[in-house]
Amino acid sequence: MWRATVLTLFPEMFPGPLGLSLAGEALGRGVWEIEAADIRRHGLGRHRAVDDTPAGGGAGMVMRADVVAACLDATVPAGDPRPRLYMSPRGAPLTQGRVRSLGHGAGVVVLCGRYEGVDERVVAARGFEEVSIGDYVLSGGELAALVLIDACVRLLPGVMGAAASGLEESFENGLLEYPHYTRPRQFEGRDIPAVLLSGDHGKIAAWRRAEALRLTRERRPDLVKDGPALV
Ligand code: SAM
Repeated sequence: MWRATVLTLFPEMFPGPLGLSLAGEALGRGVWEIEAADIRRHGLGRHRAVDDTPAGGGAGMVMRADVVAACLDATVPAGDPRPRLYMSPRGAPLTQGRVRSLGHGAGVVVLCGRYEGVDERVVAARGFEEVSIGDYVLSGGELAALVLIDACVRLLPGVMGAAASGLEESFENGLLEYPHYTRPRQFEGRDIPAVLLSGDHGKIAAWRRAEALRLTRERRPDLVKDGPALV
């Protein structure tokens, strides 16, 4: 079973939204599992301190290496094959390709930072790979972890209703997805493109491919800079 272990100062944030909708139903059916380990339990002293001032001075606090390591070691056995990911704005940007490969594995171990982040030495010593969900700064890694886990879980067999809907989506074939329409036929003077009502599946597929290319060129030229992707 695909399993997510999250190391966090806010375990009550999990499963959070992942307990609802398709991911939540799959969680209930035992398709995947989530465990949130409370870093605070491994804090030091009477106040269970988890952070300290940055070496070299400066603003903010840094999560202690020894505390984070103690939480990981108590939660994840040494031979656990799952990748260890530290959610961090300095990390490699998360992509659909990476999500797909994580979804094919045994699961993930995710470390959520708070304050200024985590002492660099525990990231290196415990083999964490830094992963970013975008070029902006969140106040903590928990929302980033939820994003990453959601993206993986929806690709697990038995989570999405129609498996095919995953294959045509944005990024799956290197393009953004074509636009969707449904009833009513006319909305505030706007019609559904006639080709979609033609019943001609060849023409519909060609229109969708052309629209996907047009939208990708307009909005994300970086995705097609080496020519259109294969579909
Ligand atoms: N001082 C850090 C910096 O400038 O790179 C930012 C720390 S941020 C306030 C606290 C935590 O939020 C980070 O340790 C990380 O776990 C998480 N975080 C913030 N932005 C993120 C992003 N774009 N992707 C993934 N995690 C993020």
